[in-house]
Amino acid sequence: AAKAAGKDRYELFDPRLRREQAERIRMVERLRAALDADEFTVHYQPIVALRSGVSIGFEALVRWTPPEQAPVGPDQFIPAAEDSGLIVGLGEWVLRRACAEAAPWHRRYGTTIAVNVSPRQLAEPSFAAVVRQALADSGLPPNALTIEITEGVLVRSGAQTELTLAHLSELRADGVRVAIDDFGTGYSSLAYLRDLPIDILKIDKSFMPDDPTDAQQAALVRAVVDLARSLGLTTVAEGVETAHHAELLRTLGCDRGQGWLFGRPGPAPAAAIRLAAETTVGV
Ligand code: C2E
Ligand code: MG
Ligand code: MG
Ligand code: MG
Repeated sequence: AAKAAGKDRYELFDPRLRREQAERIRMVERLRAALDADEFTVHYQPIVALRSGVSIGFEALVRWTPPEQAPVGPDQFIPAAEDSGLIVGLGEWVLRRACAEAAPWHRRYGTTIAVNVSPRQLAEPSFAAVVRQALADSGLPPNALTIEITEGVLVRSGAQTELTLAHLSELRADGVRVAIDDFGTGYSSLAYLRDLPIDILKIDKSFMPDDPTDAQQAALVRAVVDLARSLGLTTVAEGVETAHHAELLRTLGCDRGQGWLFGRPGPAPAAAIRLAAETTVGV
C-alpha cells in the first residue's frame, strides 16, 4: 500500500501526466458545451451485399464540427466521452437521430441502420427502454436496427455484464440485431461467440490483405469468415478498399462489405441520393 501511495504521489506531480489530465478535463468541458450547442452530426456509410453490390443499409458514424474549425473524428473524442459518462447522452442522441433519418430510407428501400453503442450505454439500466423509445418515435421497425458492440463489452464478468446481456436479449426478442464490431482485435476467447446473443460479425479492417498475392493473409480472412458462418452469423467485412478485397470476400462467401471501395461516410442527403441512384440504375 505504501508503494502504491508513493506511486500515486509521484504521478500527481509528473508534469506530463498532469498536462494529459488537464487536456482530458478540457476535452470533457468542450464536449459538454458542444452537446448543448448542437455541434454533432451523423454521417452514414453504406454496407453492401457483396453478391449484388446493392446497399442493404448504413452505419451511423458520429461527427463533431466545432464552428470555424476542422471536423473532429470520433477517435479523438469518444474515449473522453466514455470516461466522463457524456457518451450516454451523446449516444442516445446519435441513436435517435440515426433512427429518425433512416426510417424513410427503410420505408422506401428496405434498408437497415447500424448504430455503435458504447459499454457505458449498455450498462445503463434504461438502455433497452431508450432504444425502444427511439424506435417508437421514429417509426423504424426493430428488425431494421442493428446495435454494434465491441468484443470487450461481453467478456468482462460481473453485474454490468449481466445487465448488458439482459438488454441485448431483450432487444433481440423485439427483432433488433446485434453485431460484434472490430472482430479479431480483442483478446477474448472464441468460445463466447457461440453463447452470446449476437447475429452479425464485423471482421475488423486489419484483416484486409495489403498484398493481393499473400496467401497467408487471404487464409486468415477465410478462417474468420468460415468461423462466423459455421456459427450461423452474418458476416460483414470492414475496410474494403480495393476491388481485390471485394473479389476475395465474394469468393470466401462473406455476406457484406463496408469500406471506401463502396462509399465513404457522408451526410444523410448523400445516403438518400445513393439509394435513389441505385434504384434508377436497377442494380
Ligand atoms: P467503427 O464502428 O469500426 O467504424 C468504422 C470506421 O472505419 C469509421 O471510422 C469509418 O469511417 C472507417 N472506415 C470505413 N471504411 C474504411 C476503409 O475502407 N478504410 C479505412 N481505413 N477506414 C474505413 P470513424 O467514423 O472515424 O469512427 C471510428 C470509430 O469511432 C468507430 O469505429 C466506432 O468505434 C466509433 N464511433 C463512431 N461513431 C460512434 C458513435 O456514435 N458512438 C460510439 N460509441 N462510437 C462511435
Ligand atoms: Mg461500428
Ligand atoms: Mg468496426
Ligand atoms: Mg473499426
